[in-house]
Amino acid sequence: MTQKTIACLTKLRPFFGDCLNRMQQMGHLDLDSRKGKAPGGYNCPLAESGAPFIFMNAAGTLDDVTTMVHEGGHAIHSFLCHSLELNGFKEYPTEIAEVASMAMELFTMQHWDVFFSDPNELSRAKEQQLERVITIFPWIATIDKFQHWLYTNPGHTSKEREAMWMSILHEFSSPVVDFSGLEKYRAVLWQRQLHLFEVPFYYIEYGIAQLGAIGLWQQYKNNPGQAIENYLSALSLGGTKTLPELFEAAELKFDFSSATISKLMGFVKSELDQITLTTSS
Ligand SMILES: [Zn+2]
Repeated sequence: MTQKTIACLTKLRPFFGDCLNRMQQMGHLDLDSRKGKAPGGYNCPLAESGAPFIFMNAAGTLDDVTTMVHEGGHAIHSFLCHSLELNGFKEYPTEIAEVASMAMELFTMQHWDVFFSDPNELSRAKEQQLERVITIFPWIATIDKFQHWLYTNPGHTSKEREAMWMSILHEFSSPVVDFSGLEKYRAVLWQRQLHLFEVPFYYIEYGIAQLGAIGLWQQYKNNPGQAIENYLSALSLGGTKTLPELFEAAELKFDFSSATISKLMGFVKSELDQITLTTSS
């Protein structure tokens, strides 16, 4: 897993591979599954050495590939901010932190043959990745709308809560899937989103970041070198600028109008269609 990730990131830009190589030499990559290890993955910046630590619980699934390159993006961000003068500058808004990681997921896709030798599996992995990039938005909208109701109506009963959840869920879900027999589970589906309990009003950040990541990927498809330069320039600023300025440094629009979002989603759809075509041919 480690060598493959390093190879994949090196193909994108040797500096990216060097960062992970350094972490590996320092023993800062704790990736493989072992008994009792917590699930998930994260990148922990370490202020003194500048080389962060990645913890994850890899078991050879597709999710592990995306988690690894995702955390790799966070790690590159940590390296880029290490030389900033104040520790406070090395802390940046979550939205730009997730642009670093989510854009890395999309940038690396063209080199995922490192992880998947079977062309059909490779196409399926890319297809699933792009489906996730699309379906995350209605889910974010559902969670965000629900939590606004939840926290601004603290006196609600559990019956009212369930009714509100089901109505919002229907608003943002497609009616084409038949969920008959699963009503009991659908009614409590919101409980799987820990942000509702731990960090209210935070979940929308992922949507902002995902749009930034798609924008960078679109730049990458037109001009890979320039897109990577824009990525590096924005991330190197750490937390010395505001979020709109950081987006601007990456030549990204800080605009969430339906016109801009629909253009970005049209781009993702055209990429998805190309993958599907390859699979069926
Ligand atoms: Zn992340």
